[in-house]
Amino acid sequence: MSQTHSIAHTFERLQQTFQLGKTRTYAWRKAQLDALQRLLTENEKALCEALAEDLGKSQTEAWTTEVGFLLSDIKHTKKHLKQWMKPSRVSTPIVAQPGRSFIQPEPLGTVLIIGAWNYPIQLTLAPYVAALAAGNCAILKPSELSPASSALMATLIPRYLDGDAISVVEGGKDEAASLLELPFDHIFYTGGDRVGKIVMQAAAKHLTPVTLELGGKSPCIIDSDTDLATSARRVVWGKWTNAGQTCIAPDYLLVERSVTKEFLTLLEQEINRQYGAQPLTSPDYGRVVNRTHFDRIRGYMQQQDVVIGGQVDEAALRIAPTVVLNPDIDSPVMQEEIFGPVMPLLEVSSVQEAFDFVKRRPKPLAGYLFSQRQSVQQQMIDEVSAGSVCINDVMMFMANPELPFGGTGYSGMGRYHGKFGFDTFSHQKSVMKRSFWFDAAIRYAPSSARKRYLLKKLL
Ligand code: NAD
Repeated sequence: MSQTHSIAHTFERLQQTFQLGKTRTYAWRKAQLDALQRLLTENEKALCEALAEDLGKSQTEAWTTEVGFLLSDIKHTKKHLKQWMKPSRVSTPIVAQPGRSFIQPEPLGTVLIIGAWNYPIQLTLAPYVAALAAGNCAILKPSELSPASSALMATLIPRYLDGDAISVVEGGKDEAASLLELPFDHIFYTGGDRVGKIVMQAAAKHLTPVTLELGGKSPCIIDSDTDLATSARRVVWGKWTNAGQTCIAPDYLLVERSVTKEFLTLLEQEINRQYGAQPLTSPDYGRVVNRTHFDRIRGYMQQQDVVIGGQVDEAALRIAPTVVLNPDIDSPVMQEEIFGPVMPLLEVSSVQEAFDFVKRRPKPLAGYLFSQRQSVQQQMIDEVSAGSVCINDVMMFMANPELPFGGTGYSGMGRYHGKFGFDTFSHQKSVMKRSFWFDAAIRYAPSSARKRYLLKKLL
């Protein structure tokens, strides 16, 4: 059987499962969430090893940002699932009385989840936790650029989860193209905007709704009135976790000129503290995913004023935490999403200048501000449009399942995490139940002046 045929066959099998209603019950969803939890706990070592192989992730990083993240997501989902599945009662207007109205979440059907390589397990399975909780069947397509994680998920998932309701299709753009031919009930895509447009175009053929979790250049503004040392520490953590290959990593810094020198010194000290004097050999520091990305990121340093780092280990695909000072706005490092361990620092004369800079550019996935001034914090919240805004820290909003995660404008559409993920993979079906007890003649023909008068009063 050709790959395309086998994909179509898998899709039909999942559709049939969905039609049988098996995935709709609370008991099935709960059992599958338990099984996924077991998959993660019983295979923690193998999962961390795969992440080390794909991206040189340390065990701690692999656990906190992938396996542990997923376990807490599952825990939160299991805790609230019964409540989320309940219909929510709404009021019924007088014209529809006697009657009851409610909103009943229902699963969409068979969905496609296309994962990205930078957090290959988290970004494939976290959307699945939401899809599963909402009662859907799913095909997962992990990224081919993280092959060890992809292969491991393809091996483990059939061992733990209901094979009639989930399937993993490994591969790259050809397999993705075959999948995109099919009339899925939802497509959840994580990755760059170029492919995001391909996904959306393919989805349009079947009027399939899409969630696009994209990226962009997330700015980080440093006000002179801030705790500079803590700010530097948090920025270093956020930027150089996973060697900068994080969609919500601060992409570039906008720093008030009066504190640039001090902030640079603190950044350097912090890099040293977190990754040692030789970050290229630090067991806590990851590597770039492949040669193509390594060359792309190294290119960002060329003809720039490298003030911190700059060292590379070509054979190991490692680039030290690097800061470039005041690059030209038209240079690639300020035109493209960096998605790697190079950080441009642009000096600004005021935070107002920084806000103006950010607002002139496409809406980012995350916007960061370090400031102790309430008015500046409020200005950031009110004026900067971004998927998420975080004040006095970076990336930590990801740890709160009560907050939706997703972009706006060029950084994506749709959201997930916690209840937001459940809602993304559910249709909010409106239901009205009427009684036969009373049937006012007012809406039925023949019409009359009196009926029109009453209708005007009632509606
Ligand atoms: P990518 O867009 O190249 O690939 C992502 C997925 O798309 C992979 O599974 C890949 O196989 C598939 N794909 C590749 N070509 C395709 C095609 N022609 N048709 C259909 N599918 C195809 O990944 P990338 O661009 O290297 O990922 C990095 C980007 O993803 C960055 O912009 C980053 O900010 C973004 N990202 C966003 C999030 C988020 O949660 N918002 C998370 C991680 C990464």
